[in-house]
Amino acid sequence: MTTPQPRASVLAMPPYVAGKPPAERPGLTTYKLSSNENPYPPLPGVLEAAGAAVGAANRYPDMGNTALYEALAATYAVPVEDLAVATGSTGLIYQLLSAFCSPGDEVVYAWRSFEAYPIAVLAADATSVQVPLTADSHHDLDAMAAAVTDRTKVVIVCTPNNPTGPSLTQTELDAFLEQVPEHVLVILDEAYCEFVRMDDPVDGIATYRAHANVAVTRTFSKAYGLAGFRVGYAVAPAPIAAALRAVSLPFGVNLVAQAAAVASLEAREDLLKRVDDLVAERTRVVEAVRAAGWDMPDAQGNFVWFGFPGEPDRIAAFSAAADDLGIVVRPLGDDGVRVSIGEVEANDRLIELARSFAR
Ligand SMILES: *Cc1c(COP(=O)(O)O)cnc(C)c1O
Repeated sequence: MTTPQPRASVLAMPPYVAGKPPAERPGLTTYKLSSNENPYPPLPGVLEAAGAAVGAANRYPDMGNTALYEALAATYAVPVEDLAVATGSTGLIYQLLSAFCSPGDEVVYAWRSFEAYPIAVLAADATSVQVPLTADSHHDLDAMAAAVTDRTKVVIVCTPNNPTGPSLTQTELDAFLEQVPEHVLVILDEAYCEFVRMDDPVDGIATYRAHANVAVTRTFSKAYGLAGFRVGYAVAPAPIAAALRAVSLPFGVNLVAQAAAVASLEAREDLLKRVDDLVAERTRVVEAVRAAGWDMPDAQGNFVWFGFPGEPDRIAAFSAAADDLGIVVRPLGDDGVRVSIGEVEANDRLIELARSFAR
């Protein structure tokens, strides 16, 4: 071979499949329920702050992300040294893996879970160890603890789990962390934590305070509705946060995104009210879908899961039927279909689909 060759793990990477946009349907408003986006636009204060920042676009952004770090530190009562920001929490997960893994190190996580994990593991030249979910779509924490060996460098825990929906309880997480050796980094991916409504919910910040090996990753993309700006943050013990910042792309979080994220934290109360409205819609959808006879797992994010394990034909048929109703959903491999909670009208159409589609 005479041309430059990427390393084998790069050639092995599956492509990241993004949620499809809706196709044009004459006479029908179409809705995108395929990427777990927030259907609400950013709050007015956010647009103004972002607009003002655009005027300084000839300058590099603040490389230290000072205002954003200060706002996050004040919001969560954590030291600035324990924070890192990046282009979405996907960026943080890539950076954590690349900072901590050497070739051949193992990364343990549940499967099916977030589609970016297997790609990020290969990007770090590490090896995935995927632990199947339980029959009711939860993390199988006993099996995950058993999968940790002396080759394990990182464990990723996704709660609520994308795409299936269930969350861990704090009691379950604590018992799991007891079993993970202290030299193994645990990434607690809390992309949807604002949507959790259950007894004994995970408190990621308290968990990071109690463990020297836990890094919490969160995002402005989902509850805060800023997916297009690409901002996420990690809260982690100072040495982990420092490693994360060390491998970050200089000026990764751009000027406008920094301003929008700071303004969003100031509008937190209003945003959390919108989250309450989405949670109420989620409850409405889950109850209606279950009443129509579906066995749907607990939904703690801004999405619901229709499991069709090993039934690719039905996954395709369900997705096509959704398309016909003007809603675009997310088929995921041979496992099932994830549908985001969106506008009321879009959710109504999903309920209509659940009632008419043969179980
Ligand atoms: C959406 C999502 C993220 C992060 O998204 P960003 O837009 O990169 O912040 C991280 N983890 C999970 C499980 C997600 O679903």
